[in-house]
Amino acid sequence: MVPLPLGGRNAYEGGVTDLPSLRESLDAHGLLAKKSFGQHFLLDLNITRKIVRLAGPFEGRAVIEVGPGPGGLTRALLESDAGRVVLVEKDPRFLPLLAELDDGSGRLVVVEADALGVREAELVEGPAHVVSNLPYNVGTPLLIKWLTGPWTPHALTLMFQKEVAERITAAPGDDAYGRLAVISQAVCEAKLVMHLPAAAFTPPPRVASAVVHLVPRADRPDRDLLKTLERVTAAAFGQRRKMLRSSLKQLGGAGLCEAAGISPEERAETIDLAGFLRLARASAGQTQTPAPSEAGVSLARRKRV
Ligand code: SAM
Repeated sequence: MVPLPLGGRNAYEGGVTDLPSLRESLDAHGLLAKKSFGQHFLLDLNITRKIVRLAGPFEGRAVIEVGPGPGGLTRALLESDAGRVVLVEKDPRFLPLLAELDDGSGRLVVVEADALGVREAELVEGPAHVVSNLPYNVGTPLLIKWLTGPWTPHALTLMFQKEVAERITAAPGDDAYGRLAVISQAVCEAKLVMHLPAAAFTPPPRVASAVVHLVPRADRPDRDLLKTLERVTAAAFGQRRKMLRSSLKQLGGAGLCEAAGISPEERAETIDLAGFLRLARASAGQTQTPAPSEAGVSLARRKRV
């Protein structure tokens, strides 16, 4: 992780509107998008300003942006009420261009790193937002990282492929409802707030995109319960067409469902968040305090999980 000493090297005097256009900046630095880094740029400041409006207000809190690329979203963040704007970019080709966004105040920090490996608590003090047009190839692992901690964001406003955005925000009964919806919504209030066609990006990806806004819940499960919830949802949706008594067999089957007040004949796709949380609590309870007559069964189950 390499924080770059920007310190006014290329400080500009005015606001971001005094900068050359994003296209001119890309041309001036001879930069072309690389597929391997999932690079699809937003070069229209009206769009990036709208995303930042949906993400804020920041009220002086820091914002982490993963993958600033040519800096379209960064420019909108710099116009906002964000305190610090911390950029994490893996492609070093963009660093000289990003340095040109520094006004010398110390508000902008650029870190050359793979966002999957950074420790956010070392980048920001206090509560911080994450706002990002995510590289599609690492979007879901990054979301899981922010959902499961240890670092907890104040809020997340993230661009995904439309199909992934729908999987995050799906409700029981939707085709897209599955593990990602349950885990995301157990930790956060999650809303799909904006759709964008492929043509909004340069170069255009093959699929449409959407922005999801996630705000961590005050009553989100602790890390242990979240791990159990991950195990329960993996088993239940691993065989989503089967009844729970059979898909959850290794975790207690019908007995577990009954302990959670759920019919063992239901299928994963009909169980809402509250139901999955009851299943996870019942499963955690079983593992922690097995009834004497069931102790052997629980141990055997634990080995198979
Ligand atoms: N934010 C810019 C925009 O909206 O125009 C660029 C978005 S582009 C979809 C994704 C960006 O993430 C690229 O700049 C790419 O180099 C960067 N990137 C890809 N993988 C990364 C990773 N693992 N960590 C940090 N940045 C990454």
